[in-house]
Parts: sequence; C-alpha cells; structure tokens
Amino acid sequence: MSDSGTVIESVLQERRKFPPPEKFAAAAHIKSFDEYKKLYAEAAKDPEAFWATIAEKELTWFRKWDRVLEWDVPFAKWFVGGTLNVSYNCLDRHLDGWRRNKAALIWEGEPGDRRTLTYHELHREVCRAANVLKALGVKKGDRVGLYMPLVPELAIAMLACTRIGATHSIVFGGFSAEAVRDRMNDAQAKLVITADGGYRRGGTVALKDAVDQAMTECPSVEHVLVVKRTGQDVRWTEGRDRWWHDEVAKVDSKCEAEPVDSEHPLFILYTSGTTGRPKGVVHTTGGYLTHVTYSSKLVFDLKDTDTYWCTADIGWVTGHSYVVYGPLANGATSVMYEGAPNTPQPDRFWEIVARYGVTILYTAPTLIRTVIKWGAQWPEKHDLSSLRLLGTVGEPINPEAWMWYHGKIGGERCPIVDTWWQTETGGIMISPLPGATPTKPGSGTLPLPGIFPDVVDREGNSVGPNQGGLLVVRKPWPGMLRTIYGDPDRYVKQYWSELPGNYFTGDGARRDEDGYYWVMGRIDDVVNVSGHRLGTMEVESALVAHRSVAEAAVVDRPDELKGQALAAFVTLEGGYQASEDLKKELRDHVAKEIGAFAKPDDIRFTDALPKTRSGKIMRRLLRDIAAGRDSAGDTTTLEDYTVLARLRESEE
Ligand code: ATP
Ligand code: MG
Repeated sequence: MSDSGTVIESVLQERRKFPPPEKFAAAAHIKSFDEYKKLYAEAAKDPEAFWATIAEKELTWFRKWDRVLEWDVPFAKWFVGGTLNVSYNCLDRHLDGWRRNKAALIWEGEPGDRRTLTYHELHREVCRAANVLKALGVKKGDRVGLYMPLVPELAIAMLACTRIGATHSIVFGGFSAEAVRDRMNDAQAKLVITADGGYRRGGTVALKDAVDQAMTECPSVEHVLVVKRTGQDVRWTEGRDRWWHDEVAKVDSKCEAEPVDSEHPLFILYTSGTTGRPKGVVHTTGGYLTHVTYSSKLVFDLKDTDTYWCTADIGWVTGHSYVVYGPLANGATSVMYEGAPNTPQPDRFWEIVARYGVTILYTAPTLIRTVIKWGAQWPEKHDLSSLRLLGTVGEPINPEAWMWYHGKIGGERCPIVDTWWQTETGGIMISPLPGATPTKPGSGTLPLPGIFPDVVDREGNSVGPNQGGLLVVRKPWPGMLRTIYGDPDRYVKQYWSELPGNYFTGDGARRDEDGYYWVMGRIDDVVNVSGHRLGTMEVESALVAHRSVAEAAVVDRPDELKGQALAAFVTLEGGYQASEDLKKELRDHVAKEIGAFAKPDDIRFTDALPKTRSGKIMRRLLRDIAAGRDSAGDTTTLEDYTVLARLRESEE
C-alpha cells in the first residue's frame, strides 16, 4: 500500500456515454432508468422479500420454502425447505403450451453439421439420458464428471444429472488428462461422460484418450459413457466403457423429475485459474436457478422471439449459467457452436449470426480483440442486421475494443451489456439493463437489483467517487457459491477473511460520479510505480487506444533504481511492424493519455500473450518473464505453453 493508504489509483477516465436506443427501451422488460432505480430501491428495502418474489414468479417449485434465507456468516442457505428440479424448470414446464415445438438448442458443429432440438425433443433426450444414468448406478447426490466437446449431448447430460439430483462437475474439453484426473478425484465422481473426440481448429481432440489416461488413477469412477462424435479410434475397457448411443437405445423416454432440496448441490466448477490454483466452486439449486433465470431475462432482455447466442464453452461458468440454465429456464432459443472462430475462416461467427438470425450475442473481450486483429473485412462480409443486443464477460473491456464492437458488430444500434461476475457469484452481478441504463465504454455500470456491491479501502470503509478500492459484496445473494468443494476453510479464507462479513471479490474497482462501477482488474495485478498504485487495465487501455495495438498486458518488474518498473507486452494489429520508433511512440502515447509516470519502461512486441483456456491474460506469468524468473505458479490452465517459451526468447 502506498503512503496515502490508497488501494488502487484511477488515472484514466472515459467520458463517452450512450443512452439506450428509444425503440429498444420501449419494448424492453425494464424500460427506463427510473424503473431500474425504483426496482433497485425496492430490493434494497427488503432484499429477502425481493428475491422471494422473483423465486416465486420465475420458477416452478414442488414445495415452497419455509424461510427465504439462513445466513450463518459466511454460510448461506436460500429458500430453505423448498424443493424443485432444475430440468423440470428448464424443460417440462415449457411443454404445456406453444413452446413445446420451439427450438431450445440450435447447434452447429465445427465441420458444418447442424442440429436443432425443440423443447419436446430436448426433454425426451434428457429423460433418456437420465434413465441411462440410473441404469449405470448413479443416484441422487452422486457426482458425475463431464469432459466433452460442445455438442448437444453436453447440455443433455447436464440436464439429465439435474433430473435425478446428481451433481455435475464439468472439465473444459481443452484441459489435459491430469486436470481430468485431479478434478474427478477431488469430486469422487462415480461416472464420467466424454466423447471419442471433438473438433477444434480443423483437427480433432482425443478426449476419450485423455479420459483413459486419467482413469488409471481414478478409483471412484465405475463407468465411462462415450458419445460418438468424430468416429476416431478409441481404446475400450470392457465393462467400464459404454457407448452413449447404445445405452440410450435401451431405456425409455419417461423419467420423472426428482424433487431436490433448494440447497442440493447442483454442480461443482473450478475457476479459470488466472490468479492461482483453481478452486472447486460449489453451487446449489434454488438460489442459483433464481439468480440465473432472473439475470438472463433482465440483462439480455430475453423474449420468445430472440435467437440468443452465448459463445462461451459450457466448460466455463458462463456456459453453465448463460448457454444452458438461464436461457432454458426462460424458454429461450440458445445457439451452440462447437468450434473455433476462425475455422474454416475468420468469419465463422458472423456467418453463424447471419445464418440463424442471431438477435443477442454474448462473448468475451478476448474474442473481440482477436476479431479486431483479424480485421473488419470479416464481419463486413455478412448481414448482421438481426442483432439487437451485444454483451461481454470475462475481463474488463478496453474502451477502444468496446467502441469497435459497438460500431462494427452492433452497427451503432445495439446496446452493449458489459457484465461483471465470477464463477463464484453464479450469475451476473453488475451490468447495464439494456433498455434502462445509459452505458459508458469500459464500465459494467450498476448492480442488478438485489445485489449490493461496494468499493472499499482496506478497513472496509466505502471510498469516494473516482477513488479506487476493493470490490466487495455487502450482502448475500441467491446465486453465491456455498463453499469450495471439500475445503470450507479455503472458502472462508479466500472470500470472507479480507473484510469479515463482506464477500471479497479479489478485484479492484472505482465508482465514478454517477455511481458507475469500473472494474480495474485483480488486486493481485496492481502495479506500484513511482509511488502510484495503478491497475494494469488502465495502462493497457491507453495502449489499446493506439491505432497499432490490438492487445496489451502490463505488469511490474523489480528495478534497481525505481524499485518497480512497468513492462508492457504488446500485440500489434495486422499491418503494423515492430520497431524502436513504434516503441517510443507508444511510450509517448501512454504519457499523453495518463501521465509520464505511467510510461512503460519496457515494451516487448509479441504475437501472442499467455492466456487461460477461457482466453484471459495470465499476468502473473508475464510478471515472471518480465523479471527474468522461472514461473513458479500453477500453469495447468494455460492455453498454449509455447507462448511462454517464445516470450522468454523475445528481445526486450
Ligand atoms: P481464478 O479465480 O482461479 O484466478 P478467474 O477469476 O479468472 O480465475 P473466473 O471466475 O472465470 O475465474 O473470472 C472472474 C473474474 O473475471 C472476475 O473476478 C474479474 O476479474 C473478471 N471479469 C469478469 N467479467 C468482467 C467484466 N465484465 N469486467 C471486468 N472484469 C471481469
Ligand atoms: Mg477469480
């Protein structure tokens, strides 16, 4: 901490502001800023009553709860005594009316194969899969591991687990055999569902092979259920391994949804590992489903006429909450695409938007920055006029990337919802409501009604406008994580010890004069230069605002003279060449945008940055490189190991 006691300083201020388009607002669920403020105030007056009203209105319960909240700090129970079933809420209740024949999932494989499942069809497949789970000995409370490509069977398997009250633990299909092994052992999974392989970047990924390796050290797993996706050769362990298609052919398509307790564990999911070893986050049933159903409806303004596409892999929390559970609970049409955005060409996403008439697109800043690097000619080839709303999640979005997204993808007509949340929060916490909240590029704007964040100093006092601090949440909310699987002490220590009674997010933020939240990155990533505590995000955004820069990551390194110096890793846009002149230009540019003290001491040009498999920049690894150290921390979630080696070799 610097002498002034400041946690983090804010140096970059964005002034552009975009009101919701009138036509959009007129048709939206929440139609004006006043309406939002009224709702927020109502929730603040009595949060429990507010959430109870939503749970009652948005979900179908088999038994109503006795108590809304039991808060034994920091352990929460929501809708205590209530029973419900997630698959019932996502499927059965839509079958009585016209939604029965509405597309629930529109799926496209990377090779170009397509499949649409109506609510009726999806329900039928889920019931059959649930019967297969039962036939394989899976019971309520058992854990099931899913390690699959982005195929409809992944959503079917999740919903089948929820139907019988099994807890799923999804491991992203890009992870290694070791990650599968560790996660299956951590959860003591009884069954693993996988596929022979999946398609990715024109090739195939051998998923079954990785599971075979993992299974040599996973004694709890009794069976491996295998979806045939690529048709590639697989080894087969008789008795243990079963083909999905054989098993579903043996069972019937009726399976009653099992009522489970509101606090029954719905899933375990590991965080993406940007800051350290991933944590096995536990989410339960009633509160989680309330939060994701409500937030999907308000933030994405979901209507029955929408074709909604969240591009996240289901292996991340974004896919859990906003590809599967939130949209389906709302009876929406959710698009799923298996593969890479540049296969066969860098316009695959835009081709998909045009083909299905996607109206709502939810993606990550990393994808937007990549698309910018590829060039506007790719989206320009396609008719994107069906889009009415855009969203982002996963990292702070640099204002210039926001402006590009707004102009080139949204045709300047679509509001952008920049949604701040975490694996731990279960659902969206801070986000504009697109018909109500004026947006500012780079800001998640304001909390959802029922969510009570704050920006505080190390003592827990709220800080004033435009002062940086720790982002915390003051009150429990329904979608919050309940614990870390098998490690309640880590749960308490990680999230509730920094400021007892408050949920500590690990992020730094400031609130501006309108009360808008600006997330400035991880507190762990704050750099201390010449007496200033800077969020790396702001220096990065200043760099990205330069026409030559596509991506930037800024970290500190030890410096003999200054104590700490700033190192910037920069990826250039197509058409720009690395040079000493450009380095100087970029350093001057930062000095102009922020101030001379924020000038990076080193600038290194690189063709790629180390990222997690969900696309987030891993600054802790860059810090090691900048300091010339070997990386000591966890690298299991790194996307491409060769990036580190290339960066080490790169000239300063
Ligand atoms: P780990 O906790 O293991 O280090 P992680 O925090 O990257 O990994 P996630 O839960 O996937 O794992 O990511 C949540 C984090 O992502 C947030 O704490 C925040 O830093 C960042 N984030 C997500 N959405 C936004 C957003 N809209 N604006 C700014 N930051 C965001
Ligand atoms: Mg985190």
